[in-house]
Amino acid sequence: MSMIRLKNVSKFYYSKGIIASGISRINLDLDSGEFVVITGESGSGKSTLLNVISGLDTYEEGEMYIEGRETSHYTAADFEEYRQKYISFIFQSFNLVSSYTVRQNVALAMQIDGYDKAEIRQKVDEIIDRVGLSEYKNRKVSRLSGGQKQRVAIARALAKDTKILVADEPTGNLDSASAAGIVDLLTEIAADKLVVVVTHNYDQFRDHATRVIKMHDGKIVEDTGASAHAAAAMGDGSEERGERRGLGFGTQIGLGVRNTFNLPAKFLLLLLVFLFVTAAVTSQYVSVKKQKDTVSEQGWNNFFENYDPKRIVIEKNDRSAFTRADYEAIENAPHVERLIREDIMYDSSIYIENSKFTFSGYMMSVRDLEKDPDVGTLPQKDGEVVLSGYDDGWTFGEKPEELIGKTFTATANDGTDHKVTVTGLVFMDDDENSEAYMYSNSEAYFTDHMINELRKGMYASNSETTLLINGAKENLVPGAGGLVTNDKVPEGYILIPTSYDSMYKDGYAAGKEVKLSVKALYYETELPLVVMGSYGEKTFERKTGLKNLAEHDGEIYINPTDYRRLYEKGSFQASVFVDDTRNMEGMKDMLERGGYHTMVLKDHIYNFMDGELVSIIQMPLAVIVCIAVFFIAYFVIRLILKSRGVYFAILRMLGMTKRPAQRIMRTELVLVCAISYALFLFFIYLNKAGILNSARLKDYLLYLTPRDFVLLGVILLAMSVHISGRFMRSVFRSSVMGAYREEA
Ligand code: ADP
Ligand code: MG
Repeated sequence: MSMIRLKNVSKFYYSKGIIASGISRINLDLDSGEFVVITGESGSGKSTLLNVISGLDTYEEGEMYIEGRETSHYTAADFEEYRQKYISFIFQSFNLVSSYTVRQNVALAMQIDGYDKAEIRQKVDEIIDRVGLSEYKNRKVSRLSGGQKQRVAIARALAKDTKILVADEPTGNLDSASAAGIVDLLTEIAADKLVVVVTHNYDQFRDHATRVIKMHDGKIVEDTGASAHAAAAMGDGSEERGERRGLGFGTQIGLGVRNTFNLPAKFLLLLLVFLFVTAAVTSQYVSVKKQKDTVSEQGWNNFFENYDPKRIVIEKNDRSAFTRADYEAIENAPHVERLIREDIMYDSSIYIENSKFTFSGYMMSVRDLEKDPDVGTLPQKDGEVVLSGYDDGWTFGEKPEELIGKTFTATANDGTDHKVTVTGLVFMDDDENSEAYMYSNSEAYFTDHMINELRKGMYASNSETTLLINGAKENLVPGAGGLVTNDKVPEGYILIPTSYDSMYKDGYAAGKEVKLSVKALYYETELPLVVMGSYGEKTFERKTGLKNLAEHDGEIYINPTDYRRLYEKGSFQASVFVDDTRNMEGMKDMLERGGYHTMVLKDHIYNFMDGELVSIIQMPLAVIVCIAVFFIAYFVIRLILKSRGVYFAILRMLGMTKRPAQRIMRTELVLVCAISYALFLFFIYLNKAGILNSARLKDYLLYLTPRDFVLLGVILLAMSVHISGRFMRSVFRSSVMGAYREEA
């Protein structure tokens, strides 16, 4: 059985509608031990025949047998396997990796075959010795002469150790002395392999070839010396190795790393491209973030009245009341501009008016007042107030000082009225910056005690109060007409209207136990009380000390201390103001680590359309820019990597498959990407440390949290993985022969 048998094999070329015959009806048997020289004039079909034999090109008619197996049904993958197992190539143009050393080039063939390191190291030197290049082992191929390069190519073919070695014009680029050396080498190799050489320079091989095939017009016209040698050498020279393991993972990574650095100019170019991509993607990312920030500063929501962009509402994770220590810790934290303790008040306006003047503002404690009154003095007792607003002739009228000492009616959010006297005025600067002007509102500052009272009223009005009496539940409204405090009722007792008496069988509520329960936003509480008695028309004034029952009809009275027990549970919510909106994320993280629930008010604002503007214009724009950057990067990288196409064509000739090739490419791009990102981070560090100083960059950096840096890194990494994938797909899209033709 012959190693290769061709029966009536024809190969046609189709190009631009014209069919050309490459070879026609070739019959041929080739065997191990033969040194076959194919000769003939240019265009006679020599290369075509060689390419069909070596599985680089397919044939259209006839049948080729490989060790008896038919190949007409072979797929591209089958031929790839065949080439990997049987064929070593030697080309006129050498096809070596010129940036690798002699050793690295020879080792590459063995690495692709999956030999282990020790085996490679030992065998590579042996083979290099055999082709006479011992002195040049560690020299880069680009610095060798033509004859030396062809020796490297032969060494590589030997390293691959296949049964068949094919060579197309191996001496075409060599002077006659070098050519003679190559012929000798091939002759030696042909002792135990099948060597097929194509040449139009028959003289060089005349004395060594065991067989000469002469071609003309796609046909064999002469075939001399066939099989004489062949029979003798049957029985096979090269030993069959076991299943090929393929390129090891570590080797793939190693080759990728080597490729990254072995051409410094290329590495620097790639680095530049990646730095450009990093900068472009980062600036897009920041601009979206920045835009979002600015946009959300404009708008409102339905739950809070004060939607200052710097405000974070906090409550403790266990929903307990704030302690003095909590307040102090927050106030002393970095980037805290202001802490509003009675923050629930901050969202409720109080209306202060008389027949001539109307004012509305947030209720605040004097403690939160940032400066002394511009006119008048601070409030000293309940019922006194300092008003704060713009001195624009509109808020306080033309003569603000005339308001001092005047008394007004203040109506709080819960509907309670209070008499208040204005003791002072604070004028806000309207030249500060327009942002503050837009979001600040007027404010009314009361004593702590007064604020406390007002807050109690707010909690009371915002909670569900129930009277549990003899198994029945009665909803109460705190305040006038509902649950009211009365000094005549002792602690632990409750005074109710006579109408409740009928709820008891014996007709008397007095002395019975009842309960008041309160369910507020932050707490629930129950207070057991004893009915001290009931009041009717005749007893009302005596028992309550009040007059005019009609005004108080149905009211239920408890002691003020008990009332406090129900409603004065401390402050459960506060608001932190950051010094700069760009520190918002950091502040939020810090508070959350400190055990608080946070709500950044600006995130809860409903915008007309500005918010959507970000998502419908800015976001896609950024995505489009990033995609554009990606494609620019891709094409530039492709240009830079153009010569990598040759590299991968060589790897394919040597039998490398797509996956390991992809991994080699990916390693290279990911590595460059990582290095450029590290440089980028280093640059940022220099800026942060103050060694470099760019105001613009500093502004950008404020928007980037560590999480953003990780995200950016991942985006860039994904980009480089994707680019390498695309590049390799384009490399592998063409057939090996196509790739070879293009590059050669
Ligand atoms: P040789 O190697 O002897 O010079 P080839 O095998 O390269 O000859 O070419 C044999 C014939 O096939 C020639 O007529 C040539 O024009 C044709 N041929 C070779 N390659 C192609 C191709 N890729 N497309 C079209 N025709 C081709
Ligand atoms: Mg040719």
